[in-house]
Amino acid sequence: MTDKSLTTSIRENYQKIQRKVSDVAQLAGRDPESVKVVVVTKKQPLSVVESVIEAEVTILGENYPEEAVSKMQSLDEKNTVEWHMIGHVQSRKARLVAENFVLLHSLDSLKLARRLDRFAAESDRKLPVLLQFNVGGEESKFGWDASDESQWENLLPDVETLLSLENLEICGLMTMPPFFKDAELTRPYFCQLRRLRDYLSDLYPQVKWEQLSMGTSVDFHVAIEEGATFVRVGQAVVGQRPI
Ligand SMILES: *Cc1c(COP(=O)(O)O)cnc(C)c1O
Repeated sequence: MTDKSLTTSIRENYQKIQRKVSDVAQLAGRDPESVKVVVVTKKQPLSVVESVIEAEVTILGENYPEEAVSKMQSLDEKNTVEWHMIGHVQSRKARLVAENFVLLHSLDSLKLARRLDRFAAESDRKLPVLLQFNVGGEESKFGWDASDESQWENLLPDVETLLSLENLEICGLMTMPPFFKDAELTRPYFCQLRRLRDYLSDLYPQVKWEQLSMGTSVDFHVAIEEGATFVRVGQAVVGQRPI
């Protein structure tokens, strides 16, 4: 049994976010269907995940492979929710990710990529991934440093190696920009990720660089204006995370 009042409040929050996503997309001249909301349930207990599924959320985002897989295994098998991995993955957790997630948003190193490629092959699948770039250049953030546009060329050898891994399917880019109270200040970083996508897509047109995963509870509207196709929204849908 799920907690009815929790499910109701999650459903209301989710619908409110969906309406805002759709309004912002339309105002920006974009197809509202081109933006998907990933509801982030990291650190939330199973009971919250059950309510989220009951509230008809379609995509869940998790940060810790073991936590996520344990939730998957405890859930009723009837659900059709999609699980996305959005957090940093240690190489030794690569197998869990290759076997259990529909999309990895946060591919951030060649070492991880090679392991994912190997485990995806063993599971006889092609794993869809997004490449994570650190557009703010912060020490604390994962991803390839893409803060200095004049150095983007230096990213290309790694990108080419990634493209050669046959069991990974690169679908786009992801970023986690510096945090600002004022969402407007995040705009240049979202814009930078989109420009990087355009740069890579000119150089490697054989790849579908379609997806841009950017924006959280506080700034997803700005991210959509700048081209986000996935927004990763946690607290605005499910409330505060337990610490
Ligand atoms: C936690 C997290 C989010 C969601 O943040 P909220 O503030 O809860 O919306 C999005 N992306 C990543 C990578 C996260 O770790």
